[in-house]
Amino acid sequence: MDNIICPNCQSVGCCHPFYQVLAVPTNSCLLVEDRRRALDFPTGDILLMLCSGCGFVFNAAWDAKRTVYSDQYEETQGFSPTFNKFNHALAEELINNYEIRGKTVLEIGCGKGEFLSLICKLGGNRGIGYDPSFVPARQHAAPGVRFVREFFTENTSEIAPDLLCCKMTLEHIGHTHRFLTSVRQVANRVDSFVFFQVPDVHRILKEGAFWDIYYEHCSYFSATSLKQLFLGTGFAVERIWTGYDDQYLMIMARPTIAESVVPLGGQEDVGGIVYLCGSFAAAAAQSRSAWLSRLRNWAAAGQRSVLWGSGSKAVAFLTTLGIHDEIEYAVDINPHRVGRFLPGTGQRIVAPTFLRSYQPDNVVIMNPIYLREIERELARQRCESSIYTILDIEAEHA
Ligand SMILES: [Zn+2]
Repeated sequence: MDNIICPNCQSVGCCHPFYQVLAVPTNSCLLVEDRRRALDFPTGDILLMLCSGCGFVFNAAWDAKRTVYSDQYEETQGFSPTFNKFNHALAEELINNYEIRGKTVLEIGCGKGEFLSLICKLGGNRGIGYDPSFVPARQHAAPGVRFVREFFTENTSEIAPDLLCCKMTLEHIGHTHRFLTSVRQVANRVDSFVFFQVPDVHRILKEGAFWDIYYEHCSYFSATSLKQLFLGTGFAVERIWTGYDDQYLMIMARPTIAESVVPLGGQEDVGGIVYLCGSFAAAAAQSRSAWLSRLRNWAAAGQRSVLWGSGSKAVAFLTTLGIHDEIEYAVDINPHRVGRFLPGTGQRIVAPTFLRSYQPDNVVIMNPIYLREIERELARQRCESSIYTILDIEAEHA
């Protein structure tokens, strides 16, 4: 491990492994047409390493060539009222706090374009969105908003925007230092802002959330490592905060011309992450065995169980547990996912209306933030199932 360079802070010899999962699907949001192909989905390994220099966590076994992002990549959460409310409040916050009105907004990894369209509509802004998984038919582009169905790379030449945003994308990028250096080349006006949003690894580690570790996410940030990355690539950090029940970590930064000597992140904060990484494998193992025995007990008792949520968390949950027959279906409110199959374990994705006839005994909610929304939907489908969130993991021994 002595010669490994941290892809985030470029320290040498500070990275050590702490968690491993073998043979997981290389993509978790790609739509798969049939069960056979789902079961035969290509796999890769996860070997999480921690950099004790900056607190960055990354998959050292990750290979960029093995993940695919295309128009068959279905990641949007835009069918959830809870998620839309969050996005709306965030767009308004950025517009009001940073005076993003009548300005140019560039979004890297804009997905289906919902957030870019929203911030342009609410603030009267012009927009440019980059994403290979953008689908033109799904977004009626507002005036002044254009989409480029490509990756943003170091070769992309774009006008310097007033606001550059990048939500839930950086965690899919391996060499984060190189990527931010490219971003800095485009975001080159000192009066401009750069906003990033990523999952917060602090919460994942604290909760022993093994379902939040998957192949598509090769980079995992805490406030310390995120700050370190920005300071090290020519930015001054304005603010770092969390939202969405502490699931998201957000940063607002500005390009700086000062050659700042980069202080290594607060050692206390790095120490906290080092401690959590040290206990993660054991916490995840405990949570895994509790869920495994619970799901097997349900199946043995002839009970029907479904997962609610068919995205990356569901794929990571089922593949890490090695669950196939104990659960037949995963429910999703995104109609573009319905009728497809989960990569790795092959469950069919169904719409909430399916539950009216299926009447599951147990519903396991992959993301607890949607609990209220899902309870309302289950009531609409006249289901009286027992409801569990993924965090309800008290062991039920047979
Ligand atoms: Zn580092």
